[in-house]
Amino acid sequence: VVRWARAVEIVKELEERCATPIGLLKQVANAMAMEMQAGLASEGDSKLKMLISYVDNLPSGDEKGLFYALDLGGTNFRVLRVQLGGKERHVVKQESTEVSIPQHLMVGSSAELFEFIAAELSKFVASEGDDFHLSVGSQREIGFTFSFPVKQSSIASGTLVKWTKGFSIDEMVGKDVVVELTKAIEKQGLDMRVAALVNDTVGTLAGGRYYDKDVAVAVILGTGTNAAYVEHAREIPKWNGLLPKSGDMVINMEWGNFWSAHLPITEYDQDLDLESLNPGEQIFEKLISGMYLGEIVRRVLLKLAEETYLFGDTVPSKLRTPFILRTPEMSAMHHDATSDLRIVGSKLNNILGITDTSLKTRKLVVKTCDIIAKRGARLAAAGVAGVLKKQGRDTAGGGKQRTVVAMDGGLFEHYTIFSKSLDSTLRELLGEASPSVVIKLANDGSGIGAALLGASHSQYK
Ligand code: ADP
Ligand code: MG
Repeated sequence: VVRWARAVEIVKELEERCATPIGLLKQVANAMAMEMQAGLASEGDSKLKMLISYVDNLPSGDEKGLFYALDLGGTNFRVLRVQLGGKERHVVKQESTEVSIPQHLMVGSSAELFEFIAAELSKFVASEGDDFHLSVGSQREIGFTFSFPVKQSSIASGTLVKWTKGFSIDEMVGKDVVVELTKAIEKQGLDMRVAALVNDTVGTLAGGRYYDKDVAVAVILGTGTNAAYVEHAREIPKWNGLLPKSGDMVINMEWGNFWSAHLPITEYDQDLDLESLNPGEQIFEKLISGMYLGEIVRRVLLKLAEETYLFGDTVPSKLRTPFILRTPEMSAMHHDATSDLRIVGSKLNNILGITDTSLKTRKLVVKTCDIIAKRGARLAAAGVAGVLKKQGRDTAGGGKQRTVVAMDGGLFEHYTIFSKSLDSTLRELLGEASPSVVIKLANDGSGIGAALLGASHSQYK
């Protein structure tokens, strides 16, 4: 029989440990702003790498011509081509395709991964129609969005610092990702030049700015999480090159690796981290992003099964499989609006092989999803507040200027309870400054953004 009192107690404890009262979130936001400063000051003194993107000008709208973009960084990779028509005509035509990356390539060799990508790119280029126009005698150019930490040495070169999310190809760490991609492109016999290497956050910032001049921050909430923003170049002590004419530099924060003693971390998070591909790293990401939310819930449900027989006398064996409960499924259960929580029932059955759950049990499952999703959303909001604080855009005084935060990623786009909670928490954190800050969904802004940055760094400019 179910040990109900204990089950309720476990969820209650979870709720307490995951609590994110506004005072705690303010401390997290302050810590974020402080770590940003530390990461800008010197290499290696902060959890935040604050990577210099070499993007010192965001798109102006004048960009013209045919450009490609390639986006690698999560579950899928995408290729896109866009015909840019300058100030009057903007995006004349755009086409894209999406390919899922076979699991074995994420942990295989870099050559195999890049050959796969280049082959798909080559196929896509071959399908280019007559409505796209390359200037006579010029080479096709591409903006490469690579959503892992890269230490760049110019706009079109940079070495991989480490893998995150589900990727792990050791020999690739320290290698120049543009060199690897270019080798694979040449091997395909494709005549194409990589004009810009950008993180997806930087691409989203560029794409967002193209449509709205007030975009100053970009946040990704997808498989992983990260943010980029526009910094004053003179406020980057570790930068020892010439100051760019614009006075600005886009910084890729790599905020997924943020850590603070204020973060509400539970035993489930600790175990998840220890058993992950990158223990001790990306702690903020492991509390927030789509790769992990469902997995945290699975761990709580497993504890409930083991200690309270919530799902029967024996523990359902599938519940022991890491990552079997994916965040979209968690989201579907969380949004279940049926009176008997039918969807929760069928998800538990289909994914975990748990039959015959009582309404009470289903409610406890939904409660668990709610605790984990809202903790993530509220922490993400605190992160955004920290960035705005660093920019001086978090006060009503400095907030006379309008600030747009461009958001992208499947988690933010599809997990409504998550995005609503993020938004309302940010409002609460900003108080009086709230009306001047706008969150905008930048659907696949990073693809267009990478193409635009490719255009502004074209060899023909
Ligand atoms: P990536 O981050 O891999 O580049 P996306 O931005 O498309 O790709 O985000 C995909 C991630 O978004 C998935 O891994 C999943 O965690 C999350 N996601 C997608 N759909 C949903 C959904 N319906 N509910 C919650 N999360 C979702
Ligand atoms: Mg992405």
